[in-house]
Amino acid sequence: MKKISIIIPAYNEEEELPLLYERLNKLMNEIKKYEFEVLFVNDGSKDRTIKIIKELRNKDERICYVDFSRNFGKEIAMLAGLDYAKGDAVIFMDADLQDPPELIPELIKYWEEGYDDVYARRKSRKGETWLKKFTSKMYYKVLQSLTRVEIQKDTGDFRLLDRRCVNALKRLRENSRNSKSMFSWIGYKKKEVLYDRDPRIAGKTKWNYKKLIDLAIDGITSFTTSPLRISTYLSIPTFIMLFIYFIYVIVKWIKTGVFIEAFQVTILLILFFSGIQILLFGIIGEYLGRIFNETKNRPLYFVNEYNGEKELNDKI
Ligand code: UDP
Ligand code: MG
Repeated sequence: MKKISIIIPAYNEEEELPLLYERLNKLMNEIKKYEFEVLFVNDGSKDRTIKIIKELRNKDERICYVDFSRNFGKEIAMLAGLDYAKGDAVIFMDADLQDPPELIPELIKYWEEGYDDVYARRKSRKGETWLKKFTSKMYYKVLQSLTRVEIQKDTGDFRLLDRRCVNALKRLRENSRNSKSMFSWIGYKKKEVLYDRDPRIAGKTKWNYKKLIDLAIDGITSFTTSPLRISTYLSIPTFIMLFIYFIYVIVKWIKTGVFIEAFQVTILLILFFSGIQILLFGIIGEYLGRIFNETKNRPLYFVNEYNGEKELNDKI
């Protein structure tokens, strides 16, 4: 029988866990075709989260857990989940029931049809402010314009991944992680499922605007080095201005017969040297970008099929 691992990063979720278990348990009992494993990653919770998880494990051996030594953040918790999951497929879910477990059968259905990455896309975002919706929309736009990797809009981490996606993701072991961009980056056959995102059932969101901005910057910088090009591009208008002003000074000199004035020399020099400086920054940026890409140590490609067989990417 095939196994499905449900990976749930949890940070201070004591209030949510009993209800979460109840809903998952009901669902797992209904789906008889698969064996299940619920893998909690306790991300250094300060409340009774780990105690409750252990209690759950005592009465239900499908419950597994990884307990972190401290809070490492959701992204790292997700990676640990991938490392420890035993399933032929994994499903990522939040502990706060914002991702309805009732959608899982649909995710599984598409996996059975041969999709490797079945992701849930939010139709609505209940309980989220207008500002959060707007900023997230703008963010997707900017990110997409910077890269040729296709970005999935309005998707979180709620998704089902085939084992070979899991193996692929396990090989992306960079420090500043942004799972969303990694899901896109590895490729494979993707399928979208629409759902209504519910408000959190209890507790408080662990995100604030600072964390979101950090995540957004991580997202952009881990995806592309194009911000480093800004400098190179900025040097172009500076040199154009230098050129135009130079022509103007020469023409004026010929017309009036008065030799270049001191302030004109100053302007010319400022434009010339600032242009050179910006350009040099750009060049340094280009090299920095290459070093940055190399130090990530990512494998250069993944194979979908080899001689008609699905590639598992587990041989390095
Ligand atoms: N989470 C985590 N480590 C953290 C912050 C959050 O493992 O440092 C988990 C949290 O327990 C939840 C999920 O990540 O299961 C999503 O967190 P949250 O609901 O606070 O984020 P939001 O839904 O508001 O984006
Ligand atoms: Mg949440």
